[in-house]
Amino acid sequence: MKLDEILIVLDPGHGGKDPGAVGKLGLRESDVVLSVCLILAENLRSYGVPVKLTREVDEFLSLAERCDLANSAKATLFLSVHCNASTTGATGIETFHMLGSVKGAEFAGCLQDSLLDEFTESNDRGVKQESYYVLRKTKMAAALAELEFIDVAEKEELFSQSHVLAAYADALLDGILAMLGIAKRVPLIAKGLPTLPSGREKRCSERRKLVIKGLVAVAGNLEAEAKAMRKLTEEVLTWEEEAGE
Ligand SMILES: [Zn+2]
Repeated sequence: MKLDEILIVLDPGHGGKDPGAVGKLGLRESDVVLSVCLILAENLRSYGVPVKLTREVDEFLSLAERCDLANSAKATLFLSVHCNASTTGATGIETFHMLGSVKGAEFAGCLQDSLLDEFTESNDRGVKQESYYVLRKTKMAAALAELEFIDVAEKEELFSQSHVLAAYADALLDGILAMLGIAKRVPLIAKGLPTLPSGREKRCSERRKLVIKGLVAVAGNLEAEAKAMRKLTEEVLTWEEEAGE
């Protein structure tokens, strides 16, 4: 695929009247993910990868509007970026894809791997499948990344540092490039951007194989799958459930 045939749609979660999760010191998820996505967009453009954002300022957008933007632009990949929250003090990184989506699983796996490579101390909460609205209603490979738990004081403090936000953007960049298969052709335009550490590509492809194997196993039980799908699509449309730990 040529670079000019690619379009990445980045979706900073929440915004405007919806701040998302708010840390104990008042840091808002909507602001954190917007900053990360704005840096990530610049990084991608410096690689010659076309990017659109669902929002570039602190404004409210419905979930449907976000999906419509990605679908009408015929995006190649859709990435929704969020911070997590729970009532239990949980921490870690997790990335979601649509239930049963092989391409989505591949994309989510690349992102999760890149995030864990960058944040080596973080808990790996894994690649998970869910029927979240923005994953279900977007027509391209889509993933929703939960960067960390903003309601944990130590993590909120990290989110308040610009170099940490840049590190999240770098990690997501690596994941997107790995998914597009253009990670090795660096730098395409800019100089001095991060390259993939050795071994990452291998781990990424190993995870992909495992995830795809798991999905194929699930797909083997079509009746259970169809039942699970019906149950999930009946659920109220929410961004994310609380991490039930
Ligand atoms: Zn969120």
